[in-house]
Amino acid sequence: MSTTTPLRIELSAIDGIISSLRQQHYTVVGPTVRGASIVLDEISSTSDLPVGWMCEQAPARYRLIKLPVDSLFAHTVGPHSWKQYLFPPILRLFSANRNDGEIRIGDGLPGSDVPGAGDAVRPYAFLGVRSCDLHAILIQDKIFGGGPYQDAYYRRVREQTWIIAVNCTLASATCFCASTKTGPKASSGYDLALTEVITEQDHYFIVEVGTERGLKLLEGLNHRPANESETARAAELVEGTASQMARSLETENIREVLYQSADHTRWEAVAKRCLTCANCTMVCPTCFCATVEDTVDLTGMRAERLRKWDSCFNMDFSYIHGGSVRSSVKARYRHWLTHKLASWIDQFGTLGCVGCGRCITWCPVGIDITEEYRAIRDTTLTNLVPSSTEEVENGNA
Ligand code: SF4
Ligand code: SF4
Repeated sequence: MSTTTPLRIELSAIDGIISSLRQQHYTVVGPTVRGASIVLDEISSTSDLPVGWMCEQAPARYRLIKLPVDSLFAHTVGPHSWKQYLFPPILRLFSANRNDGEIRIGDGLPGSDVPGAGDAVRPYAFLGVRSCDLHAILIQDKIFGGGPYQDAYYRRVREQTWIIAVNCTLASATCFCASTKTGPKASSGYDLALTEVITEQDHYFIVEVGTERGLKLLEGLNHRPANESETARAAELVEGTASQMARSLETENIREVLYQSADHTRWEAVAKRCLTCANCTMVCPTCFCATVEDTVDLTGMRAERLRKWDSCFNMDFSYIHGGSVRSSVKARYRHWLTHKLASWIDQFGTLGCVGCGRCITWCPVGIDITEEYRAIRDTTLTNLVPSSTEEVENGNA
């Protein structure tokens, strides 16, 4: 469900939302300042949010800037994404304990501080989910829960998760979600979607309601239908964000361009810069490569099988029976970009990129996915024989 009339809530209602969810035993997770960046962590009040902070981002550059206003959501996405809660960096698939000649095997045996696939899951409430990240979650829903092989842990956590989206009222220089049609306004998949409006006299939120439980949550809080000028002001802010984006990804014929560019000279050029550090895949909200590791402790009494985040930039990731299938940097970068922007469409029906810009900001040498694709496209298009003229939609298209 989605109410057609946007509502207005006051700044103080955000604390009301957080405490109401906490009283219902949700772990509320939101953006918070740690060190010199904004990360995601458990929060208990608005004072834990990045009050009055925005971030400046550029290729290989990130810094926080203090604003003269007490905004809660003037920043954009940071190095963390919500996937760390739904698809944890380390998950114990099972463990085996030896005791008095008996071996017990299970996925929830005590003795490890990493989450176990069979553990009771924490119900999360995500506060401050940006539209790009909401599309990333919808993409991962398909990956982990949409096919014949489903990830039971992901589904259990996801089914219980609240999503309170926040529409972006500022873009960073690395954002390009407007071109991938994944932002800056959240269109579906949320319980509530907030737009923060700050004027000289006022600080309030326009709320769009996406679910019955979202509406119910607001019942105990002071709210009223937003008037026309309040709604228009919120819409202007979000539209302004889209027009601030200097980067873009041209998605028309993207799959065909990349499938016909395996021998492009640009792959050699980017390989000279790429450090294969895997940062781009770690920060990406849609990347889902993982490996499985078996470990035994020094006493030989306990063994664990762990699933860990991995990356297609790691040489070992494509190791098959005596060698790596993608042994060169060129092959690994080409594989990553071609998967994100072409073969992902064949697998899941969408791009694997939601335009969040994280891989551009957190690449230590500032490699820019939009620039790499543009360089390939500009020199491939003239020879292109498209097999489809459809534009690619993203998220839950
Ligand atoms: S593109 Fe950048 S972030 Fe990704 S592996 Fe290469 S150097 Fe690291
Ligand atoms: S590929 Fe880069 S811009 Fe696209 S979703 Fe991943 S991190 Fe964001």
